[in-house]
Amino acid sequence: MAHMNYIADLLNIKDKHVQLQDDIMEEMHKGVRCKVLLGQLSYSLPACPHCGVANHSTQDMIKYGFDHTTIHLTHINFQPVLLKLKKQRYQCKHCRVVTTVPTSIVDKGCFISNDIKRTIIMELTEVQSMKLIAQHLNVSRYTVQCQLIKAGQTLSPKTWDLPEHLGIDEFKSVKQATSGMSCILMDAYNHTLLDIVLDRTQDALRDYFMRYSYEARMQVKTVTMDMYGPYYLFLQRIFPNAEIVIDRFHIVQLLNNTLNRYRIKVMNTIRYNRPRDYTKLKQLWKLIQKNRESLDFEDYHIHRLFDGLVTQKSMVNYMLSIDPRLEQVYHLVNDLKADIAMHHSEAFIYDLYETRKYVVPRKVRTTFQTLEKYLPAIENSLTYTLSNGIIEGTNNKIKNIKRSGYGYRNFNHLRFRILITQNLLVRQTKKRRPLFFKDENTTQTIVA
Ligand SMILES: [Zn+2]
Repeated sequence: MAHMNYIADLLNIKDKHVQLQDDIMEEMHKGVRCKVLLGQLSYSLPACPHCGVANHSTQDMIKYGFDHTTIHLTHINFQPVLLKLKKQRYQCKHCRVVTTVPTSIVDKGCFISNDIKRTIIMELTEVQSMKLIAQHLNVSRYTVQCQLIKAGQTLSPKTWDLPEHLGIDEFKSVKQATSGMSCILMDAYNHTLLDIVLDRTQDALRDYFMRYSYEARMQVKTVTMDMYGPYYLFLQRIFPNAEIVIDRFHIVQLLNNTLNRYRIKVMNTIRYNRPRDYTKLKQLWKLIQKNRESLDFEDYHIHRLFDGLVTQKSMVNYMLSIDPRLEQVYHLVNDLKADIAMHHSEAFIYDLYETRKYVVPRKVRTTFQTLEKYLPAIENSLTYTLSNGIIEGTNNKIKNIKRSGYGYRNFNHLRFRILITQNLLVRQTKKRRPLFFKDENTTQTIVA
């Protein structure tokens, strides 16, 4: 029988009470050709699970026939392996209840082995549709869904604990969300996913965060977010101890968009009277958007839109000379962008107040006013190294998950799926970035 132990080992049957028979058959089961093993499970129970009387002799519990079960054990080359297991039954002489002996291969009342259930959960971490998983493992879609819910619930965050540094962002969600957008919450420091909230409205977020204890909310020290107005005051109320940090990327994006919009406006005014300049402004938009400091001024080359030799810098200078207002806006915006790149908050505040001295187009003024409104938060974002970059990466993954399932009807399923892909497997922790820019600078100088 030694080789049967070997087979049991190979099939990961760890229950020593299972005795396999010698022959392996092939049989049709639900329209699929399966390998079938035969086995028997028999051992004496230590006590009656119903009334708890200890089993000392046949006076307490007697053998009461067998339970014939068919267990979906595993797969070999995509072919299901079934185990026809005869489970011993006992009757308690005291309470007359009949019990079947339990085994570690399957849960009570199930015919899908725990190994397959674990495989389903592992498969759920990859980007693929649940239908495909069900097909590969020869189980029903409902089974996959059950495992999804079971694993997802264990990964849901605990209501007594919130991370110190919270990141919040939106993504385009399922139809169930009334605003069409859902919120994604992350630990901005450890870069782990916390949870997904169905709606981005204040009501939905308030309902969500009120689940957490007051102590948990007091733990939060910073909240990183984009410049979405309604959140700004609201989050300060929910997290009384937290400082709001605006994602640096979004500040730069706002400045870039402002410059770009004004360039287009200038471009359209000269469209018919200066067509050559119009083409330059239209085609070389990338140069204007580029950081002033990173423009090349050494490499002279020929450009089809210009006469003679030019550099990137001289081309930009020419384009700025088309409209003096454009030049002014360009320099104001680039001053601010440079301060952000240097993480220099005092200089940023100085430059921002300096813009008040100039007459700038109305749209540009609105941008500067917006920045002034968020100034404390921007100051934080130039102090803390925290950013929402990792969330944007997660957003991309969510998009893939949604597409792989051809959209999700049920928001909870989507939420569980995202939690499983992000949090089921503990990833190797990389060295964390220091929390403040000033610490980062000192560590760099030590290395140098
Ligand atoms: Zn009993």
